[in-house]
Amino acid sequence: RAKDSGRGQMCFYEPLMDEKVERSRDLASELQGALERGEFQLMFQPIFDLAGQRILSCEALLRWTNRRHGSISPAEFIPIAEDNGLIVPIGSWVIREACRTASSWPADVKIAVNLSPVQLRATNLPMVIMSALASSGLEAERLELEVTESVLLDDIEASLAALDAINRLHVRTTLDDFGTGYSSLSYLTKFPFQTLKIDRSFIADLEQSPASVAIVQTVIDLAAKLGMRTVAEGIETQAQLDQLRRTRCDAVQGYLLARPMPATMVATMLAGDGIKIQGRS
Ligand code: C2E
Ligand code: MG
Ligand code: MG
Ligand code: MG
Repeated sequence: RAKDSGRGQMCFYEPLMDEKVERSRDLASELQGALERGEFQLMFQPIFDLAGQRILSCEALLRWTNRRHGSISPAEFIPIAEDNGLIVPIGSWVIREACRTASSWPADVKIAVNLSPVQLRATNLPMVIMSALASSGLEAERLELEVTESVLLDDIEASLAALDAINRLHVRTTLDDFGTGYSSLSYLTKFPFQTLKIDRSFIADLEQSPASVAIVQTVIDLAAKLGMRTVAEGIETQAQLDQLRRTRCDAVQGYLLARPMPATMVATMLAGDGIKIQGRS
């Protein structure tokens, strides 16, 4: 009897585990030819000045629509691509495509591109960036690379060297998702970031938690004192935006203001005189 119920449990758990492992193996192998098949696309999410009057920059967000699995979230496929190293060629494509797209925008609008830690440590990164800038004609100062903090301390020397190499190209760097994971204030002094992006978990708490208001305010003031710009990500409500307007935050991004959109739509938005957005005061 004990054996039977034991076997019953196995039957309950195993297929789920197998399915997960099988899906990620399958996605790993589908990722192999995905670039060649043209299955990737970039969406662009605007980042506005605090008044919501101007688009300062747009963040490129990678989308994968696979012939067999349909659309797959970056949260699912990027870790797989990092494991098998494919993030390096895929990430290079993202940088090239993002620069190409941004080169047709007004010159005062920047492009933000997310960088995987695996890409950051790849020795060809400076070359990839230089050639993307050269072939698109985009000025280096208009490219911002976003790096998530959680990985930098794994290898401080390598991370520092890579960030320095990027900065020497006059490309800007942003510390993404600040405040999550093993975040530490030492990041702000150790690494040469020009911009700090406050994680959306703090923004989501702004309405209910006076502590979050205090944290966000303090981080913004500290960043300003250190000569860094700040961006608040994940703004979904007018109340959150109103809170941020009481701070010295430089820029805001979130569904309230604009969702990620295809390049054609961004171009239309940038071409239109006077941007009409919600939450504009
Ligand atoms: P991230 O860089 O922090 O990007 C912000 C994510 O939050 C995006 O999700 C965006 O669509 C979403 N978002 C924006 N505004 C709001 C909001 O108001 N509310 C909520 N709930 N979400 C909002 P997405 O596109 O699914 O990307 C998830 C993550 O995948 C990104 O987080 C980034 O870490 C990674 N990622 C995306 N594209 C790339 C890429 O080209 N290369 C690399 N290495 N990572 C990428
Ligand atoms: Mg980002
Ligand atoms: Mg972020
Ligand atoms: Mg994030």
